[in-house]
Amino acid sequence: MMRLSERALGISPSPTLSIDAKAKQMKASGIKVISFGVGEPDFDTPDHIKEAAIEAIKAGETRYTPAGGTLKLKQAIVDKFRRENGLEYQTNQIVVSVGAKHSLYNAFQVLCQPGDEVILPAPYWVSYLEQIKLAGAEAVIVQTREENGFKLTPRELKEVITARSRVFLLNSPSNPTGGVYTRDELAALGEVLLEHNITIISDEIYEKLLYDGLEHVSIASVSPQLKENTVVINGVSKAYAMTGWRIGYAAAPAPVAKAMADLQSHSTSNPTSIAQAASVAALNGPQDAVAAMVVEFEKRRNYMLERINAIPGITCPKPGGAFYLYPNVSAYFGKSYQGRPVNNATDLANLLLEVAEVAVVPGIAFGGDDFIRLSYATSMENIKEGMDRIEKLLGALE
Ligand code: PLP
Repeated sequence: MMRLSERALGISPSPTLSIDAKAKQMKASGIKVISFGVGEPDFDTPDHIKEAAIEAIKAGETRYTPAGGTLKLKQAIVDKFRRENGLEYQTNQIVVSVGAKHSLYNAFQVLCQPGDEVILPAPYWVSYLEQIKLAGAEAVIVQTREENGFKLTPRELKEVITARSRVFLLNSPSNPTGGVYTRDELAALGEVLLEHNITIISDEIYEKLLYDGLEHVSIASVSPQLKENTVVINGVSKAYAMTGWRIGYAAAPAPVAKAMADLQSHSTSNPTSIAQAASVAALNGPQDAVAAMVVEFEKRRNYMLERINAIPGITCPKPGGAFYLYPNVSAYFGKSYQGRPVNNATDLANLLLEVAEVAVVPGIAFGGDDFIRLSYATSMENIKEGMDRIEKLLGALE
């Protein structure tokens, strides 16, 4: 038997995997499962972006690029930060990686070491937790409150700060809650973080998916001191329906960016040259496809939110961004379906899949078992059908 490292043994399998595997199995056997579990836009990558990739292949852009990304893409990212976020960076402060997930991984690796604590507000996206562990640090999970739109307050933040607090993870708009922090809220959190010299990793991957006229604010843009203390993470996956292209990026003080690029130079090297060329077109090109996608997502959010809040016992705050609803389903705990008990959100998710044939993600994946996550990155027709099925099943619990 080959021995596995402690690092490998410490990785928890994804808690969503068994439901996902079951949903796939059901689909393969011909059952029309409605999936509210997906984490990617259901739109296609816009044509001008695809064309740019084809042109790059034809022009011979098929070789290694600098490990941290091409100068052209870094310049497009610098321009994007200036234009959209009011942030001034130089190209030596930008690192392009194989998706925002990879950017986050690199950031935790270069910022954390054993003995460090990373403050992680819950609900959280599941990969943060594993990446913190992989960096040898300890995640300090702090629960946020539903009645506060799942946003952390400065007081809640202060309560978990210790001498070992090294990094604070911020995700706005949030997966799974869709919560969006305002400039004032960010300024108030930022003040506490600066006081304790805590570095911020700000995951802004859902930046463009905002509704009700909300504005995205990067915490790095709130003050020059906060910019010096923040690693901004973003990418093209969600904004441009480019999840398969695998391009994410980070902006950080130059020594941090250099460390991230050096680390990457010994693991993946550069992200795919062709996907980098496509990302230049995404960032510099027309933005109308993004706007059209947002209009469609907002319609779906409004419809799904109305349907979910109309179900007795369920509460769900209105999410300002991303493409998820995160309803509290705990009113159904203690009930049963044909003798089968529902004691938590995982039981309910299993029941929804097996009986109603609707796939949802149980909240345990995000650090809270009173909730389920519903993605509306699927057609309106599917949303209507899926909501009918959920309503019917919940109505049949006794
Ligand atoms: N951050 C959050 C909060 C996400 O939900 C995701 C994808 O699901 C990512 C980062 C990763 O994005 P990418 O596809 O760029 O790796």
